[in-house]
Amino acid sequence: MKILKFGGTSVGSAERIQALVKLVVNNEPKIVVLSAMSGTTNSLVEISEALYKKETAKTNELINKLEEKYRKEISLLYKSEEFLRKAGDLITNHFNYLRAFTLDMFTANEEKAVLAQGELLSTAMFHFYLSEINVKSVLLPALNFMRIDENEEPDLKYIETNLQSELKKYPGEILFITQGYICRNAFGEIDNLKRGGSDYTASIIGAALYSEEVQIWTDIDGMHNNDPRFVNKTHPINELSFDEAAELAYFGAKILHPTCILPAQKRNIPVRLKNTMQPEAEGTLIANIQTKEGIKAVAAKDGIVAINIKSDRMLLAHGFLRAVFEIFERYKTPIDMITTSEVAVSLTIDNTKYLKEIRKELEEIANVEIDENQTIICVVGSVPKDAAGYGYKVLAALKDIPVRMVSYGGSANNISVLIDSKLKKEALQALNKGLFNYN
Ligand code: ADP
Ligand code: ASP
Ligand code: MG
Repeated sequence: MKILKFGGTSVGSAERIQALVKLVVNNEPKIVVLSAMSGTTNSLVEISEALYKKETAKTNELINKLEEKYRKEISLLYKSEEFLRKAGDLITNHFNYLRAFTLDMFTANEEKAVLAQGELLSTAMFHFYLSEINVKSVLLPALNFMRIDENEEPDLKYIETNLQSELKKYPGEILFITQGYICRNAFGEIDNLKRGGSDYTASIIGAALYSEEVQIWTDIDGMHNNDPRFVNKTHPINELSFDEAAELAYFGAKILHPTCILPAQKRNIPVRLKNTMQPEAEGTLIANIQTKEGIKAVAAKDGIVAINIKSDRMLLAHGFLRAVFEIFERYKTPIDMITTSEVAVSLTIDNTKYLKEIRKELEEIANVEIDENQTIICVVGSVPKDAAGYGYKVLAALKDIPVRMVSYGGSANNISVLIDSKLKKEALQALNKGLFNYN
């Protein structure tokens, strides 16, 4: 069984949905995971914001605008009266469901139910389209098997058991469609895997079924050496190891959800990145492979907070770092980068939920300085311990940019630097020139 995930732009219009047929209809058994049509989840976020603020007129305006878009797409997608009517009813149901929220209190749980509508719509629309053109498929409700636990981690045992029993209901069927992104939480409520989470759905399903391959189909021909949203010239990378891909995804390469590689890596399932607009392009294969030595790509992660902790007590003292780490552990806040000197330690976090509390506790043992609006630039590749010149190359490329922290040697795949977010574009361009010879 293969798992094929199609992102927002790949289902972004009637035409794109029709174009999926030649990619999914053949004799290979598969589960097709769909995102919401592009722009939909953003609109649902806006609708939720308006609902929280009880801005009824604005809510209705946003809902009407989104509904209009769907009415237009279904009029282009289906030909027969029967399916135009069925899809029309589908749209009516989902949008009336959204409108019903304007009458009540709006809570975080209801927001999650609102955010789930995009994937429920796109999968039902594709399922109807396949029926209209006489292709048999089964719509598997993700809410019946996709679940996260109390720590918001996928509950793989539950998912395995429940997905298997869903599939067993349809012996002989080979084409299944399901929703990306949405799931239930430990309390059985509707929840999600965070923005961009459809990739994660695909790799969790891949892992749960020990699939032969997970394919992530999107609007670009694989992982590129740099972020095409910020630099002009980039090239696709044909092969990445799991570790390299995981670092890139975690440190901001938007093409992959930050944690999408891990489930596949755990069960050694290859992940292939492909372009729906250019299916013949090779794309990127991510697998348990030893890739060639050298720097392969850079990525940038925004929203980083740097914390500098300075204490005379640290001088020659042991146990100081433990005291610092314990504070972060108490607030379940992961640390991304860390550097130390004899009297100070600098570290970064991206989850600022408990920043105030962490600061207060740190101030009991040290002087604390906090810098917000920082960006981690992560340079990824295969950089053996005994190879010379890589650190030099990265810093030389960034010679005109103030570097706040450097992390080198933590793994053979990653050299990270911390800079002010205002300098991100400049830094990515400088690295494109210095590391990849693009002007
Ligand atoms: P989808 O909606 O299919 O999930 P996304 O927008 O989430 O697609 O991801 C694809 C986008 O990721 C590309 O259009 C590209 O702009 C962006 N991107 C950022 N960094 C990279 C990179 N290193 N390689 C390829 N794409 C990247
Ligand atoms: N539709 C969701 C989002 O826009 C999930 C995804 O596209 O992966 O974040
Ligand atoms: Mg995405």
